[in-house]
Amino acid sequence: MAIDSGIATDFEVVIGLEVHSQLLTKSKMFCSCSTDYAYAAPNTHVCPICMGMPGVLPVINEQAVAYTIMTALALNCEIPAYSKFDRKNYPYPDLMKGYQISQYDIPLSKNGYLTIEHDGQIKRIGITRVHLEEDTARLLHHEGYSLVDINRSGTPLMEIVSEPDMRSPEEARLYMQKLREILVYLGVSSGRMEEGSLRCDANISVRPRGQQKLGVKTEIKNMNSFRSVERALAYEAHRQIELLGNGQPIHQETRGWVETKGITVAQRSKEYAHDYRYFPEPDLPPLLISRAWVEELRAQLPELPDARRARYMDDYGLSVQDANVLTEDKTLGDYFEQVVAVAQTSDRKARAKAAANLVLNDVVRLLKANSISIQESPLSAAASANLLDLLDKERITGKQAKEVLEEAFVSGKMPDVIVKEKGIEPPISDQSALERIIEEVIANNPKAARDYRAGKTNALQALIGQVMKQTRGQAKADSVRTILIAKLDETP
Ligand SMILES: [Zn+2]
Repeated sequence: MAIDSGIATDFEVVIGLEVHSQLLTKSKMFCSCSTDYAYAAPNTHVCPICMGMPGVLPVINEQAVAYTIMTALALNCEIPAYSKFDRKNYPYPDLMKGYQISQYDIPLSKNGYLTIEHDGQIKRIGITRVHLEEDTARLLHHEGYSLVDINRSGTPLMEIVSEPDMRSPEEARLYMQKLREILVYLGVSSGRMEEGSLRCDANISVRPRGQQKLGVKTEIKNMNSFRSVERALAYEAHRQIELLGNGQPIHQETRGWVETKGITVAQRSKEYAHDYRYFPEPDLPPLLISRAWVEELRAQLPELPDARRARYMDDYGLSVQDANVLTEDKTLGDYFEQVVAVAQTSDRKARAKAAANLVLNDVVRLLKANSISIQESPLSAAASANLLDLLDKERITGKQAKEVLEEAFVSGKMPDVIVKEKGIEPPISDQSALERIIEEVIANNPKAARDYRAGKTNALQALIGQVMKQTRGQAKADSVRTILIAKLDETP
């Protein structure tokens, strides 16, 4: 889904991203309210602290700090021994206290990177910092008035700021996709951009190629999919290049992406740090991060997508494409591994290939057709493994396997049970019986046999079809083909 940015080559585009992710903690950042409000009625997950009442005292959520440090470690950041929270002051109806508790000059982490792969090249994108703050409430706009829902207020929000290291809208999308993968693997974020639990703002500027000094940047907000990130940046790059080309200035401002129109529009002039009158949060103690805790958290890091991709290729011999698809969606990769793990075969590599084929072709097709995820599917990993075992033991043919899979996908039954219930006969393994049937088919279809011998290869397909019909699908297609060719070649 690459978007043709068509950006003039005498200009260079410079992009940095600020990504906000809600953290999957049970409670909010500074109070004990539940974060599980997605389907709750408005203003039901609130208390004096997250409503911003005067005189209340916030308490730091340790799990949120742990998740932020784990993310920072996965992004190769340094974790300073000392950090603190600050007040960021601004008035807005969704900001209950009139300030947001955030981190200003001493964030929980800094100086990291992640890598993206673009045109076969590995590129490192710098991470300036990963810090922790709280989410705001939410305004629901109606005709002529707005309502406020405070449920979201105080939800832990992690901000990941990149260096301006991206040089195209496509690189920005790849960065965003990679970052989301890592957050989901870590289990710290749901990664759901469409629900707003993962949000992206972008800073973009352009400059004549070869110029060192950065151009004037704009900030784009409101992009809620990978595609809109790429489209919004492509639009904005064109707009800025056109302004420069016409000798007009670019204003430093915040712009909103309007998905339906495919354009960005000016929202407000850019704020600067001094506009926020930051100062240390007096109600919270500074954070002293012990090295022992950092190492404990490092030891808890799960296998990350790059490592898993490499392992699938090295240990299982999967192609880079298959390894990519299986690691992009963590749950699909987990499922694949379970199928391999319960195999009743010693040849794990062969089983891994068969399992990858089954999952990526048949299972994914059924999931898509039914619009469900692998976790919602009744088809257990054990059932998929069982199907592969039946194929390995030649208890069923490939054709029968498809039929059994469809049934298992609906009912959740084990394939060996389905085979018994449906009375599916084992494939004809008796070579002489199969040969007899093939000889009969050749004798009864003299024209097709003559056509084949005359070089019309299509005729072979017709004969194979006849044999499969005679054997009611119980013969293995590849042995039918081999024997058929041999027989046709030996009898004139
Ligand atoms: Zn609360």
